[in-house]
Amino acid sequence: MARVPTDGINGDLGPLGDRLATIGDLHSAASVLAWDRQTYMPQGGVTGRAEQLATLARVAHEMLVSPETGRLLAEARQREPGSDEAAFLRLARRERDRAVRLPSRLVAETSRATALAEQAWISARENSDWSPFAPVLERVLDLKKEEASYLDFEHPYDAMLDRYDPGATTRRLRTMFDELKAGIPPLVRDVSARIDEDHAAPLKGGFNEKRQERFGREIISRFGYDWSRGRQDRAVHPFCINFGSPDDVRLTTRFDQMRLSVGLFATCHEAGHALYEQGVNPAYSRTPLSGGVSMGVHESQSRLWENLVARSKPFWAYFGPELRTAFPGAFDGVDPDTIYRAVNAVMPSEIRTEADELTYDLHVLLRFELELALFEDGLAVADLPEAWNAKMEEYLGIVPENDTRGILQDTHWAIGYFGYFPSYTVGNVLSVQLFEAAVDERPEILSEMETGEFGALLGWLRTNVHRHGKKYEPDDLIERSTGRPPETASYLRYLRTKFGELYFLN
Ligand code: ZN
Repeated sequence: MARVPTDGINGDLGPLGDRLATIGDLHSAASVLAWDRQTYMPQGGVTGRAEQLATLARVAHEMLVSPETGRLLAEARQREPGSDEAAFLRLARRERDRAVRLPSRLVAETSRATALAEQAWISARENSDWSPFAPVLERVLDLKKEEASYLDFEHPYDAMLDRYDPGATTRRLRTMFDELKAGIPPLVRDVSARIDEDHAAPLKGGFNEKRQERFGREIISRFGYDWSRGRQDRAVHPFCINFGSPDDVRLTTRFDQMRLSVGLFATCHEAGHALYEQGVNPAYSRTPLSGGVSMGVHESQSRLWENLVARSKPFWAYFGPELRTAFPGAFDGVDPDTIYRAVNAVMPSEIRTEADELTYDLHVLLRFELELALFEDGLAVADLPEAWNAKMEEYLGIVPENDTRGILQDTHWAIGYFGYFPSYTVGNVLSVQLFEAAVDERPEILSEMETGEFGALLGWLRTNVHRHGKKYEPDDLIERSTGRPPETASYLRYLRTKFGELYFLN
């Protein structure tokens, strides 16, 4: 159904609303260009596209930090606490405060240094050669530390976290990871001792890509992804993207002919992000309230649909038979329970993005500890590979074959995304807290899943999470929707129950 454009909150805020909407449009236009770059743009477009993106970013930044925006924000009258307009002002002020503190020289240098580092990372990864990448990464790290020095946080790493998860602090993450560190490694050890065969075997072999795509589209259509307000394309690194409103939310995925789970779970994961964005109150479009509230909450949505739904027993009760139809001959005589075991096979491995649900957080824990050591000056960039391998051995019992499959596997550090990794684990933890709250309130969610229906679940998420966009701070949102602050206990209990049963631990 088409929506009538609304000037809701922006209209109410007059010239300030218009100005923020224009800045939002610049960012949205940049996102369209970024989407194109990662999907259809020919290789030759790289340089020109980098210039276009830099120009849009610069113009948006200039408008945000301009004295005119400052004046409009300073003169805006107080709004009723708890109103959309009050949230608008809080978010706009925070965004501008952060932007004005950073010298434009630093912003430009960071953009240049990360572009160079990304290139250096690509070739270092290809050649599995850390040494030429190290000095380039060191430069990026220095710039990020300088950035932290201009921002007012208790701990320099907090300045990194705040960008992705407002309210997240080093102190809180330490507590969270300490709790997970006490709970997950012993469970991984117990499970590992029980691995007698490759439970994932049924998902390996030759799977036609067209069929994989069709099956994935069927699943996410049933989840409730609205194709009239989105589309799916292919990308090397799958992502979900939107353009300042819930009316055009695109996802990308990738397929591996030999491993069905790669495309299947990438599709479900990105659809979780997309359902969130499609569910935001349309009145928030082109305002600072549009979009998901934080990376942690965003990941809670993607991981909820990927793990709590698509790796669950009720899900495969319905989709097991569907899978047999989708891939004729490939699953003859394979019952839903075997598929449930296959999609949950635990196998400590080198690569984070391919990790199973149980060992995934150990990959994040390792990155969190290394990032923290870098920001506390307790670790030199030159010593990273050694520190990486030592932690891999400690937490996962394996030493990567080479740096490509070790320290060079992720692009995050090269592009300056320090403080981003913890969001993945925050998302895992929140996904269980939210799912349990949803099932508590709407017990029919589980029986619906057995029939391939997800209306009750999506409805609950829409009402309690999606609709609010950035209106509430992440912690407030979680407390409002689940009745308690974020906590790890439910998550650990869930992992113990699920994998205890799968691997006959009791
Ligand atoms: Zn994600």
